[in-house]
Amino acid sequence: MLRLTRRGAGSRFDTALRAVRRIAAACASLALFAAAAGPAAQAAPAAGKVTPERDVYAERRALFDRISMLTGIPWHHLAAIDQYERTLTKARPKSRPQPRGLIAIYVPPERWAGELNPDENETNPAVIRHFGGIGLDGNGDGRADRTDDEDILWTVAQQLLKSGTAEDDFAIGLWEYYHNTRAVQRVLQFSALYAAFDRLDLDDHAFPLPVRADYSYRDTWGAARGWGGYRIHEGTDIFADYGVPVRSTCYGVVETKGWNRFGGWRIGIRDIDNVYHYFAHLSGYDKNLKPGDIVKPGQVIGWVGSSGYGKPGTSGKFPPHLHFGLYRDRGLVEWAFDPYPLLKKWEREDWQRIRNGTYKW
Ligand SMILES: [Zn+2]
Repeated sequence: MLRLTRRGAGSRFDTALRAVRRIAAACASLALFAAAAGPAAQAAPAAGKVTPERDVYAERRALFDRISMLTGIPWHHLAAIDQYERTLTKARPKSRPQPRGLIAIYVPPERWAGELNPDENETNPAVIRHFGGIGLDGNGDGRADRTDDEDILWTVAQQLLKSGTAEDDFAIGLWEYYHNTRAVQRVLQFSALYAAFDRLDLDDHAFPLPVRADYSYRDTWGAARGWGGYRIHEGTDIFADYGVPVRSTCYGVVETKGWNRFGGWRIGIRDIDNVYHYFAHLSGYDKNLKPGDIVKPGQVIGWVGSSGYGKPGTSGKFPPHLHFGLYRDRGLVEWAFDPYPLLKKWEREDWQRIRNGTYKW
């Protein structure tokens, strides 16, 4: 187990990092340089594409690796917390400030500086400690700044360390930090995803059916539907024959699998953007899939059917189709949104992959 004293190791790393940044700032591509210099070099996606988004991933990964080395907390635990908070900011842009740096973890001022601290922007670590705030100085500049990436990550890491560094301790640490079971579940799901693929870039998607199969769909968002009382149609119906493969649309974690009287045999998958992908009316599933399993875009998860609208096993009450829905987690509730535009996009991207020979899923 790595045990470095924070101050000594921190300042050494910080000095090295500052030197790298100074040199890199002079270069045209700071992120490329940082990726080549840090452990993120191995983790960077091998696609060969260099987009601004990818550079941010490399810098972010280097930061997680560094804090991980100093604290013994696996990088994917830190990454999962950061990503969970990023998705909350995306879902509730009015109640949470946009992140200024690489990290999206938002610590409310009163929690950072202490409930009774008259100055909610307090940065003096001793004063913060006096008022019972959690804010710490992570980068060794003498200030505990809740807008500084290193100070934030270091502070959260120290909160987690109170519960230990083992995998089981992580769940307890998350509960102590968030006091919210959904938050704990999400962070554990994201952590499992990052650990499985060992990279931050898990944004690729696939169309739910093989694009060369026979199918048709149109935008049916909000249409009324007849069975089980008045409900609004929250999704897109993709009509295809029995047995056409249904594929995961994302990198994600299987969250739900089983019978639902509306959806029939259905599967729900949570992606890294905290969106729940819902596949209903299947004729069957991949038998080996179970909740908690990790899936990739294009991976076959089941087959088109007409199950649902009754007791388990009910089938044939409507023509076979895949009902596909998307739900965004807003922290306490989930909101359905129209999947049609994204389906169009993923379908186009799959055809593009076929044309350029990268349709590997
Ligand atoms: Zn439907």
